[in-house]
Amino acid sequence: MTNLVAQRILVTGGAGFLGSHLCERLLARGHEVLCVDNFFTGRRGHVAHLMDHPDFELMRHDITFPLYVEVDRIFNLACPASPVHYQFDPVQTTKVSVHGAINMLGLAKRTRARILQASTSEVYGDPSLHPQPESYWGNVNPIGPRACYDEGKRCAETLFFDYHRQHRLEIKVARIFNTYGPRMHPDDGRVVSNFIVQALKGAPLTVYGDGSQSRSFCYVDDLIEGLLRLMDTPAAVTGPVNLGNPSEFTILELAEKVRELTGSRSEIVFRPLPQDDPLQRRPDIGRARELLGWEPKVPLEEGLTRTIAYFDALLAGREALAS
Ligand code: NAD
Ligand code: UDP
Repeated sequence: MTNLVAQRILVTGGAGFLGSHLCERLLARGHEVLCVDNFFTGRRGHVAHLMDHPDFELMRHDITFPLYVEVDRIFNLACPASPVHYQFDPVQTTKVSVHGAINMLGLAKRTRARILQASTSEVYGDPSLHPQPESYWGNVNPIGPRACYDEGKRCAETLFFDYHRQHRLEIKVARIFNTYGPRMHPDDGRVVSNFIVQALKGAPLTVYGDGSQSRSFCYVDDLIEGLLRLMDTPAAVTGPVNLGNPSEFTILELAEKVRELTGSRSEIVFRPLPQDDPLQRRPDIGRARELLGWEPKVPLEEGLTRTIAYFDALLAGREALAS
């Protein structure tokens, strides 16, 4: 689909998993895309196929430092999303969430750009309300190992709403639930990529705890469609809006599904449950349905099959390079 009015759009974290898919979709709509990334978890290779596109530009930059560019819209995605990566340098995680948000909001204020924040279901912490509606204020441990991310993202939401009230910025806040798909990093550490890579290598699938904790998994294409629709809503719509797939599975069910779809004989092994790991998570997407006319279309089995094909090809390529 092409847009009648092309815009200059900044995607921070554009070389990451979600960011690279978003850049692709924006270019396909006829926009100019400035992809900004410091390559902490992102890869140049994720956007290598876009480098020759006349409307695409890649800039290495850390958004905890100010950025001076001229843009019409900003998708602020820069931040490691996997618990393994965001806990690797927790101070930097809070910095990118908070300082990064201040810098991008400052940029939006100067350019009068509309700005969307990639927030997260983690703002609900280990939720006592199930499924989670946007009106739920959450149950977050402010001093635990996940706090750098959870509280960083909560503070970013606060900043977005304060800039909206104080400076009349046009803001959109998306609360993204677990999303998976091609271009997740094989060493990302999140559960879908871990299980698929383990199954394809014939290694044991590592279930943390007893595997009874639940998550709701959204395929990347569905999620990107939700982000694009949210950005295009009238100015009065700020969110927060939950974006995710309401089909809920236990982690053990996911492990069994991955084993079945890969045809793997890997055993399932149990490992200690990380501290503050949420017991259950499922989005109430009533608001997204009403405001965006959006709901996920790709069922888990189909999304997993596509993701398995991606990792299969990736691992085969790596082996070929290694031999
Ligand atoms: P990702 O780790 O693949 O992408 C994050 C990108 O941000 C990477 O390219 C990384 O290099 C870049 N980055 C990190 N710090 C930066 C900095 N200081 N300056 C510039 N770039 C920086 O993760 P993802 O899954 O694509 O997540 C993208 C966004 O969506 C994140 O903000 C994340 O919190 C949010 N989100 C994702 C999910 C999910 O399930 N994928 C769920 C909830 C929220
Ligand atoms: N998990 C697991 N094995 C793994 C990786 C993760 O059992 O190899 C569990 C993890 O403890 C959590 C769920 O899978 O309960 C989702 O973890 P992920 O890191 O993907 O994202 P989270 O939703 O916790 O941010």
